[in-house]
Parts: sequence; structure tokens; C-alpha cells
Amino acid sequence: IKCIGVLTSGGDAPGMNAAIRAVTRAAIFNGIRVKGIYKGYRGLIAGDVVEFKTDSVSNIIQRGGTILKTARCDEFKTIEGRKVAYETMTREGINALVVIGGDGSLTGANIFANEYNIPIVGLPGTIDNDLNGTDVTIGYDTALNTIMEAVDKIRDTATSHERLFFIEVMGRNCGYLALNSAIAAGAEAAIIPEISIEKDQLAELIEQGFRKSKNSSMVLVTESEVTGGALKLAERVKNEYPQYDVRVSILGHLQRGGSPSAQDRILASRMGVAAIQAFLEDQRNVMIGIRENEIDYVPFQRAIKKEREISEELLEVLRISSI
Ligand code: ADP
Repeated sequence: IKCIGVLTSGGDAPGMNAAIRAVTRAAIFNGIRVKGIYKGYRGLIAGDVVEFKTDSVSNIIQRGGTILKTARCDEFKTIEGRKVAYETMTREGINALVVIGGDGSLTGANIFANEYNIPIVGLPGTIDNDLNGTDVTIGYDTALNTIMEAVDKIRDTATSHERLFFIEVMGRNCGYLALNSAIAAGAEAAIIPEISIEKDQLAELIEQGFRKSKNSSMVLVTESEVTGGALKLAERVKNEYPQYDVRVSILGHLQRGGSPSAQDRILASRMGVAAIQAFLEDQRNVMIGIRENEIDYVPFQRAIKKEREISEELLEVLRISSI
């Protein structure tokens, strides 16, 4: 491999810049040229490519978002779109790709890699922590901290009024953000897709009276079709239990922003260096994962399988600590 391309795709996450920096520097360290591809797969199709030197990634480790920009690109889901993307690679002399993104981006990477026999290494860049084969993803820790701080602030006003607050957080089909931020912020419960799919968590909570003491309650909710989201849950409570003073707070995009935490910067740096190491070891079509604090190569197929289970232990911790 003489020249790699690096891109960020899908939802952005804090720490993506730290990953771009590490990939760039590790490649150059090993005598490999680097080209930055702007706006994800869209830029690969459009030929929006710039050669990166070590100083192209100076002073970005502390910045949220991604200097490469990101995009969603439906064209890449088509055979014709991917053909144009491949032509860009040939024209630019790019032999391999590092794709930083979530489950959708890695699904696309997997298809593209198989179609054109291109070596691709993926980095899990998403606040949702919804990829298999890695304990954590780049951006997750920062998002958790952001949510925790927001919930702390909501608590101040909630306790002054004895209210029931539903706080909606991101996560798509994955309840890790909601569950762990509920634990971190001392919330009463987390309504998450993995559990909601089996039982009516709201009914259960109401039955238990939310809390034995008569204070305010905060319930973290994953934004997802399965949970219905915070607004729908609040509506149900208002209709069925008018005695509760219900409020909703949807944290939205602020969860994606901010300067990455130390954990995320370190994780992204390790994973970025590991991506280049993977190429040197002739690995391809793997996502870099981290398990028990060791770098691991996870085949794309396994990384994107929708089978991530929620931790029973974490559920138990929340249950016990919120009585
Ligand atoms: P994320 O990577 O954060 O999960 P998306 O699911 O929006 O975000 O996916 C990002 C991009 O990855 C999509 O806009 C598309 O370009 C590409 N992608 C997703 N799924 C596929 C697929 N099945 N085939 C090809 N490309 C895909």
C-alpha cells in the first residue's frame, strides 16, 4: 500500500478529528501517503480529495466534529455510485481506505471492499456505541459526559417542582447511552429499545410508583421507534395518570458536539494507529475494536451485525441504585 484515503461518514462524533490525526501521522510515519476525502462517500464520488501532510492535522485533536466533514450519501448505495467512487480512487492513486463512521458507513465499506477488492479498515466513530466487537466507540464517552451534565442541570429544576421528567437521548436501537447516563446522573430509570421490545417499561415504572420517596423523577429514554421516544411516553402518562406533572426534554444534537474527552482522544489515537498497523499486517475489511483494553480486529460482517446485547449487570446497577 502506497497511499491511503481517509474519510468520515454518517453521524459525526467527538474524537473523529483525533482519529483522522492518528491515521494521517501513523501512515506518514510508515512511509505511506495520505489523502483526505471530504464529506464521506459523497466526496469519494465527487473527487473531493486533498493530499494530507503531518501539519494538515495539526491542532485538531481537541476539536469536536470532523475537519473532513461528513455526509449521508444515497448514491453510494447504488452500484453506479460505487463505480464512480472506485474511479476516483484509481485516478487519485488511493490503494486503501480508512472509513471512520457508524454501522451504516461500515456496511457501505463492506460492500465496496468486496465489490472492488479494496483493502478497507474501519474505525467505530459513533456516539451510539452500537457496534459489535468493541467495548466502546469513538465519541461515546464524550456524549455520555455531555448527557450527564445536562441531566444534572435538569435535576436542579426538576427537584424544585416535584416533576416527572422524560429526557430523550440518542442511540437509535442501542440503549447504552440512556442506561449509562441514567446510572451516571442518578436517574430513576432508563427506557431502552432492548427492553422495551419485550415489555412495557412505562407500565412497570408507573406500577412501582416511579420512586418510593415523593421527589421528582428523571427517566432517560432512547430515541427509537421501539421506545416511542420521550414525547409519546409523556403523552401516555398525561392521559392515563393525570396526577403526574410531566415534562419532556429532548437533548438532540448537543449530544454530538463538544471537545472530546481524554478517553475519546486516547481511544481515537490508538485506533487510528491500529488502522495503519492492520494494513501493514495485511488485514483488510476489519473494524478496529477495543476489548479488555486491547486492540482487536473485527471482521466487518461481525461488527455490523445487529445483535449487541445490553449488559444485565448495568441494568441491575440502575435498578438497585435507584430505589
Ligand atoms: P452511520 O454510519 O452513522 O450509521 P448512516 O447509517 O447514515 O450513518 O450511513 C452513512 C452512509 O453510509 C450512508 O449515507 C451511505 O452512503 C453509506 N451506507 C449505509 N448503508 C449502506 C449500504 N447498505 N450500502 C452502501 N452504502 C451504505
